Amino acid sequence: MNIRRKILIVDDELIEREMLAFMLSDLYDVIFADDGAIALDIIKQKRTNLSLVILDLHMPKIDGYELLKIMHDDNELRRIPAIVLTSEKGAEVKSLQLGASDFITKPYDLPDVIRARVSRSIELAENSIIIHQTERDSLTGLYNKEFFFEYGKRLDAQNGSPMDAIVLDINRFRIINELYGKSYGEEILKKVSSCIKEIAHQNGGLACRSGGNTFGLYLPHTPDLKKRVPDYLERIKNSTHAGKVSIRMGVYHDNGQGLDMERRFDRASLTCRKLRDSCESCFEFYNDEMHAKELFAERLISEMEIAINEKQFKVYYQPKYDIRGEKPVLRSAEALVRWVHPEFGMISPGVFIPLFENNGLIQNLDLYVWNEAAAQIKKWKDDLNIKIPVSVNVSRIDIFNPLLVDILCGISSKNGLDTGDILLEVTESAYTNNSQKIIDTVESLRKEGFKIEMDDFGSGYSSLNMLTSLPIDALKLDMKFIRNICSNEKDYRLVAIMIEIARLLEVPVIAEGVETKKQMELLKNVGCDIIQGYYFSKPLPHDEFTQLIKSEKKESRFLC
Ligand code: C2E
Ligand code: CA
Ligand code: CA
Repeated sequence: MNIRRKILIVDDELIEREMLAFMLSDLYDVIFADDGAIALDIIKQKRTNLSLVILDLHMPKIDGYELLKIMHDDNELRRIPAIVLTSEKGAEVKSLQLGASDFITKPYDLPDVIRARVSRSIELAENSIIIHQTERDSLTGLYNKEFFFEYGKRLDAQNGSPMDAIVLDINRFRIINELYGKSYGEEILKKVSSCIKEIAHQNGGLACRSGGNTFGLYLPHTPDLKKRVPDYLERIKNSTHAGKVSIRMGVYHDNGQGLDMERRFDRASLTCRKLRDSCESCFEFYNDEMHAKELFAERLISEMEIAINEKQFKVYYQPKYDIRGEKPVLRSAEALVRWVHPEFGMISPGVFIPLFENNGLIQNLDLYVWNEAAAQIKKWKDDLNIKIPVSVNVSRIDIFNPLLVDILCGISSKNGLDTGDILLEVTESAYTNNSQKIIDTVESLRKEGFKIEMDDFGSGYSSLNMLTSLPIDALKLDMKFIRNICSNEKDYRLVAIMIEIARLLEVPVIAEGVETKKQMELLKNVGCDIIQGYYFSKPLPHDEFTQLIKSEKKESRFLC
């Protein structure tokens, strides 16, 4: 390891301290105490980053024996090795019994001998921690994640110098396992591991296997890491002797911010996750842009609750038109949330919804939107004497809330609505990920009278077989199929097939993201029932939507 460790020399004689320092200070950070009491204070204070104590036995206040005993009796201090300085025969045995790791006789041996004893004591102590606490990963022999972090943090506390963090993943490892068998997969893991271990050793760093096919490298900082990483990547890839294996690496290059080890690895992992699970080996360095994004995300998460209380979230309404008749008629709306942030202005849900889904915060926001939407349906009912159904988005996280049905029923009755006035959009991927749970929940909701629309249909790869057993009231086609229906024959045919499926299930089809007349006409020809998209209108604030209702009513383009 290229790490300067800290050694405490405890001796009441200045000349002795200086002689030892002369021999050791080019290799170690040396600090001093001239009596046992001061030494004990320093040891306690620096217990996490002290690698060795060299101790004279005869000292005022607390002598060497007593200090050894205090250290030996303390769970934490016991791990710091102590070498005693002695000129008497017999003292050695007693010292060793009290836990000393070695002794140096006065007058001193040759400097090389002393340096060797010092380094051996430190090494033994560090290895014994390793042997004690680690469970190395049994397949690869690398440190496991827990120990890796514990050891790395200890080293950081000892030397505090900059470290670079690398997270490495084997792309599509699951497929390698499936195609070539588990033992082949294990061979690849072992080969990658031994190469990583070698890189760690050569650089004086640490390596671990942190997950199935994920590894960590913690290396002393080098300014030329940008040049080295491609070489590491190549070496690791070649070590597998398998052309089909590709590796991706996310790198956090220390920039003097003084982050702790976990944060360095969070950033390296984030960078690694961003790289696609591709066939090509690749790497990327964590950069300022990612940092800015991360800070922005953290801010949005931390401000969400205040924003709800201050009503910074605004619900917009986008109309859905029924195109079955001669002319399209306004039939319902979808509630879509926006964040009008005091500093950043309008933020789109595509930015913040995924952040809130990751930590469950989405439930609070959805509750807010459902309440707002229900209150708005009631307001239109009261003010305009019309009842327009509004669909709200139900996140896959909401499905796990055991109170979901009660909450939605409560919102509906509080506003004097029928449950059928509130449509619920549930994304298809929620069905594919946890099908039984969602089927049960959706069934209870339908029993209460809510209508369920399967959102983003076509993106989640539901099997046909599964579809027929799903309790749904409408299919909403994923927007990406609509985008190219006019220019791409394949997309057009896919849409036609999906509409056939909806017929089979006897549910209406909604197409969203419809922007042009041509798209609308094609969809109409192929049997689509309802259209939502910029062709008719963008999502509107409630007052503009009120105007839209009024004008459509006047033109008899209103169905409710
Ligand atoms: P989504 O549920 O699939 O909503 C449709 C998105 O398509 C909306 O984006 C809408 O503004 C946009 N859109 C509608 N017509 C067109 C068009 O003709 N062209 C194009 N390019 N886009 C169109 P938005 O409002 O940005 O919402 C994005 C996503 O955020 C929504 O996708 C939904 O998944 C989520 N979301 C929005 N509001 C909420 C909410 O209150 N709760 C939850 N859980 N998710 C929400
Ligand atoms: Ca939706
Ligand atoms: Ca959608």
